[in-house]
Amino acid sequence: MEICPICEKGKLKPVKEKHVLFGVDLGTYPGEKCSECGELFTDSKYVEKIEKIAKEKGIWGIGQKTKISKSGNSLAVRIPKKLAEYLKLKEGKEAYIHPQDRKLIIELE
Ligand SMILES: [Zn+2]
Repeated sequence: MEICPICEKGKLKPVKEKHVLFGVDLGTYPGEKCSECGELFTDSKYVEKIEKIAKEKGIWGIGQKTKISKSGNSLAVRIPKKLAEYLKLKEGKEAYIHPQDRKLIIELE
C-alpha cells in the first residue's frame, strides 16, 4: 500500500468520497485517503469532471479574495459580481450578519 506523500506516515486507502463545494453536491468519486492526516487524493480525470460540474452549476471560482473598505463609520465588504449574481444579491436587499469563529456569516432573506 502506498505511503501518503503529504505526512509520509499514513497509508493510502481507496475510498468513495462525496465532493461538496460551497454546499453544492458535485457527486461521489473514487479516490485515496490517508489513514493519518486524512488528505484526499482524487484522480485527475475525476478532478476535471468535478471542475466541469462546478462550472455548470455556476459555483466555479465564486470563492475569492475581497477587500474590506471604509464606508462612513462602518466597514464594507466588497462582494464580487460573480458571487452577487449567483446569490441573486441586489443593492438594498436586507441580510443578517454575524460572526462564527473566524468567519463572517451573511444570512440572506
Ligand atoms: Zn497523510
